[in-house]
Amino acid sequence: MITVPFTDLSAMTRQIWPSIEPVYLSCLLDGNYIGGPAVESFEREWAAYCGTDHAVGVANGTDALQLTLTALGVGPGDEVVVPANTFVATAAAVVRAGAAPRFADVSDETLLMTPETLRAAITPCTRAVMIVHLYGQMPDMAALLAVADKAGILVIEDAAQAHGAEWAGRRAGSFGAAACFSFYPGKNLGAFGDAGAVVTSRPELADRVRALANHGRSHGSSHYEHEVVGTNSRLDALQAIALSGKLAHLDAWTQRRIDLAARYRARLSDMGLKLVSVAPRARHVYHLLVVRTAGRDGVRAELGRRGIQTGVHYPVPCHLQPPLRRFADGPLPVAEQAAQELLSLPLFPHMTDDQVDLTCDALGDMLPAISASREFSRGR
Ligand SMILES: *Cc1c(COP(=O)(O)O)cnc(C)c1O
Repeated sequence: MITVPFTDLSAMTRQIWPSIEPVYLSCLLDGNYIGGPAVESFEREWAAYCGTDHAVGVANGTDALQLTLTALGVGPGDEVVVPANTFVATAAAVVRAGAAPRFADVSDETLLMTPETLRAAITPCTRAVMIVHLYGQMPDMAALLAVADKAGILVIEDAAQAHGAEWAGRRAGSFGAAACFSFYPGKNLGAFGDAGAVVTSRPELADRVRALANHGRSHGSSHYEHEVVGTNSRLDALQAIALSGKLAHLDAWTQRRIDLAARYRARLSDMGLKLVSVAPRARHVYHLLVVRTAGRDGVRAELGRRGIQTGVHYPVPCHLQPPLRRFADGPLPVAEQAAQELLSLPLFPHMTDDQVDLTCDALGDMLPAISASREFSRGR
């Protein structure tokens, strides 16, 4: 029996359904299913939320990354720096755009790319860097932008896990040439299926992404004029309605995530369990609550036996994934070690305080075993 689920999407749906039901009906009766007013209004709301001038809705977060690279002219012969600890799509989008990922190691504290690891990954072929706001928080953006600037490379934010995150009071999405969001259902802002967006304050870049996502049609051109070879990666109206409906609750849901994370942090640090650190000046929106523990797989299995669902983000760093190994260039020790230890605990806006306590109590019961395996791994 599940006592603490990893997430609860249906609770969000139940909360927003009364406000979106009539909007769904009118959209279905209007017949504007792809693009149209619901998409345009969500795009305006999302750009405003991120502090950018433009948002372009696309089919998913991976397409957002790939279309951004292509729209920026990054392709064959180019290299793009990607942190080793991220969801595989960050690196896969680079490959799909025709470029080569260069993997950077991460901070042992935050598990995010650092100015030093970025600098170490840059070569004369590097055209861009993907800064990933993993787990919901942003690294030192001023320092990273300074390294990128000095090297003359483009900055793209992979903000798929960082809806509403901030660094020094500025929102995720507003730092790079463009930023890419995923609205996969489990993300902090999630649709009822796949969806994504690119945000930018460069109007020509927004136009180019929009054209690429819509069969290469430019604004103002007729339905059968195609100025570039594009693809079909549009946002559906039914997804945009869900997203606008949920956006109205996002700040409250984020605050609840932050409060639950504080409860976890207090309980777990008493037990000596190490959480991923909060980066200086970052507003962490806790897409994931990640701890590090020796004997991770055993801990995870025992939690599972007690009905507590967990995740691992990510068990294999990108540079060791079989199709990406050919881009790897030596070991990345911090990311490789962390991949053995990372464990994501349940955290979602409708989680109760009691569920946090249940999870922490269960971990507390296992602590003797956890410490023993830590001694074991140190001894080796
Ligand atoms: C979810 C995610 C993506 C991909 O988004 P999809 O919408 O699933 O294609 C890319 N990068 C990161 C960091 C993600 O978490």
